[in-house]
Amino acid sequence: MSGDAVHDIVVIGGGINGTGIARDAAGRGYSVLLAEMNDFASGTSSGSTKLIHGGLRYLEHYEFRLVREALKEREVLWHNAPHIIWPMRFVLPHNDGLRPAWLLRLGLFLYDHIGGRKLLPPTRTLDMRSDAAGRPLKPLFSRAFEYSDCWVDDARLVILNAVDAQARGAVIKPRTAVTSARREGDAWTVSLRSTLTGEVSTVRSRMLVNAAGPWVERVLGGVVGRNHPHAVRLVQGSHIVVRRKFDDPRAYFFQNRDGRIIFAIPYEDDFTLIGTTDQDYHGDPKDVRISDGEIAYLCDAASEYFAEPVKREDIVWTYSGVRPLYDDGASKAQEATRDYVLKVDGRSGEPPVLNIFGGKITTYRKLAEAAMDKVVSLLGAKGREWTHDATLPGGDFPADGYEAEVARLLADYPFLERKTARRLIRLYGTTARSFLGQAKAPADLGRDFGHGFSEAELNHLIDHEWAMTAEDVLWRRTKLGLRFSAEEAAALSNHINAAVDRRGSEAAE
Ligand code: FAD
Repeated sequence: MSGDAVHDIVVIGGGINGTGIARDAAGRGYSVLLAEMNDFASGTSSGSTKLIHGGLRYLEHYEFRLVREALKEREVLWHNAPHIIWPMRFVLPHNDGLRPAWLLRLGLFLYDHIGGRKLLPPTRTLDMRSDAAGRPLKPLFSRAFEYSDCWVDDARLVILNAVDAQARGAVIKPRTAVTSARREGDAWTVSLRSTLTGEVSTVRSRMLVNAAGPWVERVLGGVVGRNHPHAVRLVQGSHIVVRRKFDDPRAYFFQNRDGRIIFAIPYEDDFTLIGTTDQDYHGDPKDVRISDGEIAYLCDAASEYFAEPVKREDIVWTYSGVRPLYDDGASKAQEATRDYVLKVDGRSGEPPVLNIFGGKITTYRKLAEAAMDKVVSLLGAKGREWTHDATLPGGDFPADGYEAEVARLLADYPFLERKTARRLIRLYGTTARSFLGQAKAPADLGRDFGHGFSEAELNHLIDHEWAMTAEDVLWRRTKLGLRFSAEEAAALSNHINAAVDRRGSEAAE
C-alpha cells in the first residue's frame, strides 16, 4: 500500500489475539497493518500453560458459554495445526477431603458431552494402585479420572498466524510501537515508532483494533486518549520447569488445598512444566517475574502429590505472564471471568476503535470471528468466515499424521538425527522442507550451533519469521533455550547480530 493510502484496519499488538484478527481480516480482503512493539508473542501469549482446553475448572464458575466454545475449538485447532497442537490425556487424582468424586464425575460428564468431541477419547476412571499414572505419586490416591484436552506451542501459534496474515496481504511490523492515534476526518492518523531505530512514521486507517492484551488500557489512555476505567483486571500467573519428574506421556491435574488447581505436564521431552498461580498484578506487564512466594507455592503444591518432592534447586527455568482479564468484579483473581469482551469506542461518524478485553489462546480464532462481526458492521462486509477449515503454515497434514511426517522427513533427509527430525516437524511441519532444501549432508545446512540447530534453520527464522535476537530464537521460535549452554547462546547471539546487520545494510543499498 502506498504512503497516503488508507488501511481498513490497524491492529495494535502482536499476541495471539492481534495476529489472529489480522489473519482473519486479511483473508477476507481487508487491508490490514499490524504493529507489535517488541517480538511477536513477547507478552502474555508465550507465558500460558499452553493448553487448548475447555477449562474444566471454569465449570465451577458457571462459564458454560466459554467452556462450550473452547471445547469445540480443541478439535478445530488440532486439525488446523497438527504440528504444534496435539491431544493430551490428563490424570486428575481424587483427593479425599477436596472435591467429592460425584462432582468431578459430573464436571467431566459435561466436559465430554457439551463440546462436540469427535476424535478425542472420553473420560475414564483409573485405579491408581495398578495404573502407571500412580507410580510417581504418593501412595495416597486410589482413584483418578483421566480426560482429554490438547497441548499447543503458544508462541508458535502466534508466529504462524502472523506468517499467514502476511501471506494473505497484511503488512506485519514487529518492533514497532503505536505511540499515538488521532481521529482526523473519517480516518485515524496513527503514529508508529520503530523500537529498534527510533524512526517515526504515520499511517492512516479507517479503524483501530486495540489487541494490546495487558496493555489494553494503557493503549486506550496513552495512545487513543480515551479513559475506560477498570475494564481490565491484570492477573499474574507463573510456571516452573524442572527436569522430567515422570515418564508417562499423560499430564497431571492436581487440586490444591486452597481450592485452586495446578498442572504438571510433560514438557519438551526431558522436562516437566508445573503451573500456574493467580495473583493480582499492578506494574508494567513487561516487568512481570516469578516471585519467591509463587516458587514456594508451586513446589509445595506439586510436592503434596509427587512421591519425590519438587525442590527449588530442581528448577531449570521459570516464566510468568499477565492475564488481561475482563474485570467482572469477582472478589478473587482466580474467579475473574476468562471469557472475552469486545467493545467499540467512537461516536457515530467518527472512526472507531475496537478494544479487546480478556480471551484465551484456545478461543483466539472465535474471538477473531467475533471481532470480524464488529468490523463488518463498522466498515461493511468483505469476504466471509474462512478460518474454521484453513490450516496454518506447515500444518497441511492429517491430524494424526505427525509420526508419518517425521518418517517422511527422515526418508528424504536420512542424515538428520531422529530427534532433530521430530523437533523440526513439531516446530515447522511441512515447512521444514523449505529450508532443508536439497541438503544431502549436515554440512549442506551451514554452521551447526548445537542440539541439531543449523544455520539453515536460523536463516529461515530470520528471513521468514522475523527473529532478530537469540532470545527470539531460543525462547519463542524454539525452546532450545532449555538446552543451550551460556557459551552456545552467546555464539548464537553474535551470529544473529551479524546476520541481521548484514541484511539491514543490504536492504539499505
Ligand atoms: P498479548 O499476548 O500480551 O499481546 C499483546 C501485545 O500487544 C504484546 O505483545 C505487546 O507487546 C503489544 N503491545 C502493547 N502495546 C503496544 C503498542 N502501543 N504498540 C504496539 N504493540 C503493543 N489460555 C489458554 O487458552 N490456555 C492456557 O493454558 C492458558 N494459560 C495461561 C496461563 C497464564 C499464566 C496466563 C497469564 C495466561 C494463560 N492463558 C491461557 C491466557 C492467554 O495466554 C491469554 O489470554 C492470551 O495470550 C492473551 O493474548 P493477547 O494477544 O490478548 O495479549
